[in-house]
Amino acid sequence: MRLRKGLRIVCAFSFLFSIVGFTFSYLSLPTTLLIVFLSGTLCLLEYFLFERNVIPIVSNFALDLEVVRNLAKSEQSQLPTQLNSLIVAEGEIPDWIVVAGGAPQNFHISFASFQVVFNDKTIIIECPFNKVLYDKFCRFKVLGIKGKAFYEKNFNIMQKALLEADFILTTHEHWDHIGGIAQSPHIDELMKKTVLTSEQVSGHTIKMAEFPQEIWDDYIPLEYDRYHVLAPGIVLIKAPGHSCGSQMIFVQLKNGEEFLFIGDIAWNLINIEQLKNHSRIGMLIRYENGRFLGHQLRWLFDKIWNNPKERIHLVTSHDLKHLEYYHRIGLIGDHFQ
Ligand SMILES: [Zn+2]
Ligand SMILES: [Zn+2]
Repeated sequence: MRLRKGLRIVCAFSFLFSIVGFTFSYLSLPTTLLIVFLSGTLCLLEYFLFERNVIPIVSNFALDLEVVRNLAKSEQSQLPTQLNSLIVAEGEIPDWIVVAGGAPQNFHISFASFQVVFNDKTIIIECPFNKVLYDKFCRFKVLGIKGKAFYEKNFNIMQKALLEADFILTTHEHWDHIGGIAQSPHIDELMKKTVLTSEQVSGHTIKMAEFPQEIWDDYIPLEYDRYHVLAPGIVLIKAPGHSCGSQMIFVQLKNGEEFLFIGDIAWNLINIEQLKNHSRIGMLIRYENGRFLGHQLRWLFDKIWNNPKERIHLVTSHDLKHLEYYHRIGLIGDHFQ
């Protein structure tokens, strides 16, 4: 907010300065034109980087929920019974990174892990980073990123849950989603059940999680085209854009409740509710494909958010308020079992 406002003030001030300077003969015509040109360019740059919202009218994102549902139901009797969450850390990110055009204030975010509970096993989705990587994340103060809290106790609970789980999944290869595996004291044990796709393993942003290089020597990543059934009630859905290895994760519980983990396609529900893509500057910083993201956000809005017939619950990775809402209504547990 402050950065965008600052740029606009500089544009307006330099434009006014040049006009007044020329009117009272303090500035020559070439100097005035140069200042007008530079302030105009800055103005356009501010619009392109911070304001421009790239959302198509019609989505080309190919996701057929009925196909996904049928895949998930293949073994109805063994569907998971419960979905739990665990907040490992909290922080704040600036509005202008999250949403094109900004928002009235910065966003309070959570870094959470999720536990899908079956009668005979558990599966973990998302493994936020340890304190060392979290502190590195908080160092990006120049971008307006702030740390709030790191819950060491919850990180240790997550580590125990990872050891007990049958599979470990992530929506994408960013450090705040897989850092808890890369920096785990049990990494050798965890990698045997961690299901990363070939796109996630080869994505250039995975290096920030600082996996030990030798881990990859005998690791076989998952290859799939559009959908992959990982377990009863759990379907992986390819959705590159936020990162090249991004995927959505569909979860269907035995009681009929359905969830769609969308990772960081929307950092906050505002991206879907108001059909606002991430800002261009945010896309550049994170190497995102804004066109793909735009089609995914349009699909999420049309097919789910704005569709009164659809009852699937969207789960973003960092929208703390929305997660707390799910806690309050008892849809997602607020601790691991
Ligand atoms: Zn991410
Ligand atoms: Zn994230």
